[in-house]
Amino acid sequence: MSTTGERTELNKIGEFGLIDRIKSKFATHNPETKVGIGDDAAVLAPHSSRTVVSTDLLVEGVHFDLSYVPVQHLGYKAIAVNVSDIAAMNALPKQVTVSLALSNRFSAEAIDAFYQGVRAACQDYKVDLVGGDTSSSTSGLLISVTAVGEVEPEKITLRSGAKEGDIICATGDLGGAYVGLQILEREKQVFMANPDMQPQLEEYDYIVKRQLKPSARMDIIHELKEQNLVPTSMIDISDGLASELLHLARASDVTMCIYEDKLPIDKMTYDTAISFNIDPITCALNGGEDYELLFTIGQEDYESLKNHPDIHFIGYVKKNIEPSHLITKQGNVVPITAQGWNHWQQGDTESE
Ligand code: ADP
Ligand code: MG
Repeated sequence: MSTTGERTELNKIGEFGLIDRIKSKFATHNPETKVGIGDDAAVLAPHSSRTVVSTDLLVEGVHFDLSYVPVQHLGYKAIAVNVSDIAAMNALPKQVTVSLALSNRFSAEAIDAFYQGVRAACQDYKVDLVGGDTSSSTSGLLISVTAVGEVEPEKITLRSGAKEGDIICATGDLGGAYVGLQILEREKQVFMANPDMQPQLEEYDYIVKRQLKPSARMDIIHELKEQNLVPTSMIDISDGLASELLHLARASDVTMCIYEDKLPIDKMTYDTAISFNIDPITCALNGGEDYELLFTIGQEDYESLKNHPDIHFIGYVKKNIEPSHLITKQGNVVPITAQGWNHWQQGDTESE
């Protein structure tokens, strides 16, 4: 896993050696970070009066497969998915902690590569790595990341604020990460059958990247801030649009109505889904891990966002008198369900 081919065993450098190695490569970006790695706890001096905290646990074999995920991308993704949760509160990320349980399969160089990804994400999102914990593991790699962010009280955006008449917005495009995963799974099967075969990934560049190295949409949060626009509700799209729409509907006690022909689907996602015999709309609705934002705005805010190239208006919010639904191109009304999710979760780990 190292580019130089060197392999330093973890038991040679020890836990403190490893922590020093990590610490030496991280500088802090935020004045709010007073004490970072090295003491019993980090010391933070928040600027705003509201702090948001979010944690994610990533388990090898459940959330990622090291046979096709480069550890460097894994480091990036571990930070990006947590920053995405902070973004979904309309907050700015400030600090992260990263805890690892490692088996002796990992060398110090592999951990270096993981932290290179962590560092790249910390730079992109202007967050400081302020601590973590390191332990051994008898079964694979576990990564736990906690992110801390800040938001002014009047800008906090919950899942529960959507109101009748609001417009439903989705950023970017949907379904790409799921289709990218299908490509990676297929190439893994080809490689396992014949290790001399090199994976054919170049032509699927965009969707494979959507899966391996997702971005948190902090750019959108900054733009909303510049416009002085606060969404009425927001969530990040980690488990698929359908599931997130139902979360907003339940928390806000409203009905969500979306239109099939408004769903943003990238051309490569569309064509690749078709080649796998999967419905691209199903990918957009139920494929996970896009890490785009789903939010609702009051109608009075439509003007200021209507020309945004990366915000799509996919439907509107109704009073809660019927189940949330999709209106197809033919005008049929189909209830939105999150059924596909569990099914695919299984598919992800079974890799049939
Ligand atoms: P403790 O015994 O109190 O848990 P540690 O020796 O584990 O302390 O940690 C010492 C310092 O190194 C702390 O600031 C901790 O947050 C930091 N640290 C430990 N492991 C990691 C890691 N994997 N990544 C970043 N910081 C870490
Ligand atoms: Mg510790």
